Amino acid sequence: MNGEPDLCIGGQWRHASDGGTREIINPADGSITAVVDEATSDDARAAVAAARNAFDDGAWPETPVAERAALLDRIADLLQRDKEALASLETRDTGKTLVESRIDIDDVTSVFRFYSRLVGVESDRLVDVGDPAVISRVVREPIGVCVLIAPWNYPLLQMSWKIAPALAAGCTMVAKPSEVTPLTTIAFMHLLDEAGVPPSVVNLVQGSGAVLGAALTDNPDVDFISFTGGLATGRTIAKVAAEHVTKVAVELGGKNPHIVFADADWDSAVDHVLTGVFLHSGQVCSAGTRLIVEEQIADDFVAELAARAEKIRIGDGMNPASETGPLVSEQHRAKVEAHVQQGISDGAKLVIGGARPSDPALAKGSFYLPTIFDRCDRSMRIVQEETFGPILTVERFTTEAEAIALGNDTEYGLAAGVRTSDPARGERVVRALRHGTVWLNDFGYYTAAAEWGGFGKSGNGRELGPTGLAEYQEIKHIWHNTAPQPAGWFKG
Ligand code: NAP
Repeated sequence: MNGEPDLCIGGQWRHASDGGTREIINPADGSITAVVDEATSDDARAAVAAARNAFDDGAWPETPVAERAALLDRIADLLQRDKEALASLETRDTGKTLVESRIDIDDVTSVFRFYSRLVGVESDRLVDVGDPAVISRVVREPIGVCVLIAPWNYPLLQMSWKIAPALAAGCTMVAKPSEVTPLTTIAFMHLLDEAGVPPSVVNLVQGSGAVLGAALTDNPDVDFISFTGGLATGRTIAKVAAEHVTKVAVELGGKNPHIVFADADWDSAVDHVLTGVFLHSGQVCSAGTRLIVEEQIADDFVAELAARAEKIRIGDGMNPASETGPLVSEQHRAKVEAHVQQGISDGAKLVIGGARPSDPALAKGSFYLPTIFDRCDRSMRIVQEETFGPILTVERFTTEAEAIALGNDTEYGLAAGVRTSDPARGERVVRALRHGTVWLNDFGYYTAAAEWGGFGKSGNGRELGPTGLAEYQEIKHIWHNTAPQPAGWFKG
């Protein structure tokens, strides 16, 4: 960063093989936060080769579980030591508020702590095969070389959901953060060195996904690809990996319904719908972007929501007064603006927003106003497609069955919220929704101990929880006969 080498390949910090660099822009004011090395596809291939050697010939996969667990704990300690520096870097890179970045670093820490504990209690499973001479065991082994590709909205958090279980399992890996937001992953890589992660176990390349993609994913030396990002990229990666029958887990987008029944607690419903969609300016995969509200309260509910949304304080995430920051880049804001225009031409009723803020102090940043569209329906692209910005669409229902049908009427299935004071109805609706996480009278929370992932086109793997570790493991059945006898099948 800023002249220091940023690629870590085979235990060596290096500049890009062609000397290429990239300017990292602060989306709050358009200034250059840092200049980082931009890897070439040769660098990416070298990183995979280093991880392959470290897996095939290195000690890490055989390192006792207790040592791996202790290493994860040391990493967690270092994350907390450097929390303020990492949080401030994340804010300057992504634009999110410092409060959010601090929460991110705490969450990253908890992921390392969780897998440190989990890997320590994992044990082989004994199977009774009905023969006392046979000891039959099902054991878990590291899957091998992993390629870990993360998006820009939660750069270090999303990467930690991959690196922590991969290390816990005994894998070696190549991490590739988004080209837009690589800074905390680079800083974190230095912490891994300090914690004592052996050379070549974690390799880091950052740069354009379009350039590095093939070297990282169309590569027979890779055993597992864990990808978090958009649907189109996920599809491309899954197709390429299929050629090598490489295992792939893809965590993709969402178009998440937040269903509000008329009997819901009013204040918490308004507040959680507001937070669920406008936190981090809507750049959250699980953002509650589709409000599905019971007709009899809809007008009042939308009016109060709009009044609150207009008071959201937008600004530089480093300013403690800011409640939400900018969109991640000018290019991303252009996409959000095009989506909003599409909503207007499709006939949605613009209630508030739909524009950049007029405050001259925000003119250099890629800010966008919280936007609410009422009278939306499923024919509209703003209801079907992920905007990944501060845009809420409103649909109305009159029956429980209609609410469920609307909630499930999406090609995605990442997350959903249900708000009602009737526990029986809450349970019915929660069970009927085809989404990977469903919140009942809450929204947006998660824990490292519970699985995260999507139904439908939101993805095909799970991160976090015990399944998040199992993704990085192969399962082997060992049949051991302690009193061998001839099979006796062929008589001659
Ligand atoms: P993206 O454009 O798909 O990029 C994701 C990552 O893939 C980036 O590191 C990107 O690199 C890389 N990439 C791009 N093309 C590639 C290729 N051909 N081969 C290999 N890698 C490639 O997504 P994004 O815009 O960064 O992130 C936003 C999306 O992520 C949203 O759809 C959001 O819902 C989703 N998301 C999902 C979850 C979840 O848990 N399900 C969590 C967070 C975000 P470059 O940045 O260099 O292009």
